[in-house]
Amino acid sequence: MQRYGFTLKKSLGQNFLIDHNILHKIVAAAELDKSKGALEIGPGIGALTQQLAKAAGRVVAIEIDQRLLPMLGETLQAFPNAEVVHGDVLKLPLDKLVEERFKGCSSVSVVANLPYYVTTPIIMKLLESRLPLEHIVVMIQKEVADRMAAKPGGKDYGSLSIAVQYYCEPELVTIVPNTVFIPQPNVDSAVIKLKVRQQPAAAVDDEAFFFAVVQASFAQRRKTIANNLAGRFFTKETKGKLEVALKAAGIEASRRGETLSIEEFARLSRELARVLG
Ligand code: SAM
Repeated sequence: MQRYGFTLKKSLGQNFLIDHNILHKIVAAAELDKSKGALEIGPGIGALTQQLAKAAGRVVAIEIDQRLLPMLGETLQAFPNAEVVHGDVLKLPLDKLVEERFKGCSSVSVVANLPYYVTTPIIMKLLESRLPLEHIVVMIQKEVADRMAAKPGGKDYGSLSIAVQYYCEPELVTIVPNTVFIPQPNVDSAVIKLKVRQQPAAAVDDEAFFFAVVQASFAQRRKTIANNLAGRFFTKETKGKLEVALKAAGIEASRRGETLSIEEFARLSRELARVLG
């Protein structure tokens, strides 16, 4: 970096990994082999990219910071199976990119040390665009990993847990101290592995409405599910219909959103759609 006169940009979440042990743990969790592809988001100077290129048949790495491209050219020189795409992962058409650049691969996984300022939008884009992914193995803020993997009943469980677990099975791979980065972030980190489900975790007819019900149920965490839903979908006059829907879904009006499983939210959104016509 010194040779290139490169200075790290905090605004782009540039905390680079300097620990080989962690790099190997991330790559091992992705279960790659030479028939498979790896999509990396934010290669930085290419430390993880090199390990991915050794393990996978093909690697495509999307980097937003143009200043890193000459360095990546150097670090990836010996890896003709690795390619860098310059762009913002949130703006690129990932479905087209995956289809075109991983032709012939038996599967594709996302493997990355994500920029923390955009972790959730990136994960949601990957999930909602229904990319044909096998795994998503990412280093993220520990607190966000805890929320993604949380089970019903705790303070970490919320709309992010449901969105992630609707599409994937999460597994916490390891907790990472901040000493393995330069510069050191102020938060703890974790590697999380999301195994993308072939079918979503629950049968849902209208996904947009299902997620709207989930969002509304957590609008004010201290409120009961009935109060949160009443505020979002019903008036004083139509409130009776909410009771009908809760009863039909077998959910006590006094429960809080954080106690409902994905299956229960699916049932509830079906019954709510019915009474709302
Ligand atoms: N992979 C490297 C490592 O592990 O050392 C760097 C990881 S660093 C946490 C995040 C990287 O993501 C940086 O290189 C940053 O420039 C890049 N980045 C930030 N926002 C991005 C975006 N929207 N699209 C693509 N890359 C982005």
